[in-house]
Amino acid sequence: MGNIGCMFNCHYCQNWKTSQVKYLEDRDVHYYTPEQVVDTAVRHGIRCISWTYNDPVVWHEFILDTAHLAKQAGLINQYKSAFYITSEAIDELLPYIDIFSISLKSLDEDYYRKITKGSLQPVLNGIKQVYDAGKHLELSTLMIADISDNEETAMKISDWMMENLDSTVPLHFVRFHPDYKMQDTIRTPVDRLIRAREVAMERGIEHVYLGNVVNTPFTNTFCRNCGHKLVDRFGLNAKITGLDDRGYCTSCGHDAHVKLFSKNKPVPTTDNPELSGYDIRTFDWHGDIVSLHIQLKNNTDEEIKIYHRRRNQDGKYNLWTMVFLIPDESFRLILSKSCNEEIGPEVAIPQGIPNNFHEVFDRAHFPTISIEEGK
Ligand code: SF4
Repeated sequence: MGNIGCMFNCHYCQNWKTSQVKYLEDRDVHYYTPEQVVDTAVRHGIRCISWTYNDPVVWHEFILDTAHLAKQAGLINQYKSAFYITSEAIDELLPYIDIFSISLKSLDEDYYRKITKGSLQPVLNGIKQVYDAGKHLELSTLMIADISDNEETAMKISDWMMENLDSTVPLHFVRFHPDYKMQDTIRTPVDRLIRAREVAMERGIEHVYLGNVVNTPFTNTFCRNCGHKLVDRFGLNAKITGLDDRGYCTSCGHDAHVKLFSKNKPVPTTDNPELSGYDIRTFDWHGDIVSLHIQLKNNTDEEIKIYHRRRNQDGKYNLWTMVFLIPDESFRLILSKSCNEEIGPEVAIPQGIPNNFHEVFDRAHFPTISIEEGK
């Protein structure tokens, strides 16, 4: 879930059309109550609400209300933030948020002043407060080409983590793409991210991942004792391959520092739906575009079914997955390439249902311009 506005104004923001309110368009705003958010998650079998896209700090009260209800409904809350926030506000979040994924952009005060328009120390204080409270914590650092994608950034952040947190807190080095006020530059070269990962591991951090990079071993989780692959990732997809129910390595029994959700609620699938009265839309993955948002609005007074399936190079298809939308429901599906053999999704939508396809450039990108309108 994302909202409007941010306490920062980062030059590179990939969600500037929603984080910087002057660029917002009314059509991108949909209204929900806390009860509707939780009901939507429960109905769709979603087990974790991630507060993300713009920065959750700016809609603190709504998040507190909703996260409280979500916990009562057995859901997990994840808070993905640049964390320029007061200690009192963190105290209010701690009872309800299960996962804090915090963006630590740099350890350089000048960087924060110039590029984000904020400051560093409150972010560091907040991270420490969450860590001391014993919450699940992960840090991520956007590696901006020729500005922060260097060994010094990796070294300073790792050393700060080893001094103030511990070696088991996961660290993500995230690939940057040119956006907003920083369009006149390049996408971060992957070899610089790989080098940053090596540096962080040499300094003692145990779980270091690359972000916004698809199809690389460095997004997987490996056992740090025996090297067995524990979680296999491709883009936004993850598959557990070597963990037992407690989150330990199935090969050597080592604690992998992984907390597992309860088992998946089965996703409704079918191989032969009745599709008369449906429009079929296809999309081909291409270049860096390996995820798609599909914005839908059920403008009827009946429940409707949407279907989607993966198309593969060998001409074969996966089963159709069903999604039910209640009357008046506004919903965004995220589809994401899951292996090299997959060429793109096929989506079946009842005729007359408003829908827009949006290409997603990177994982926390919330696109507002549809394919039909341009890129
Ligand atoms: S990059 Fe994140 S913290 Fe910076 S302006 Fe955008 S939403 Fe806010």
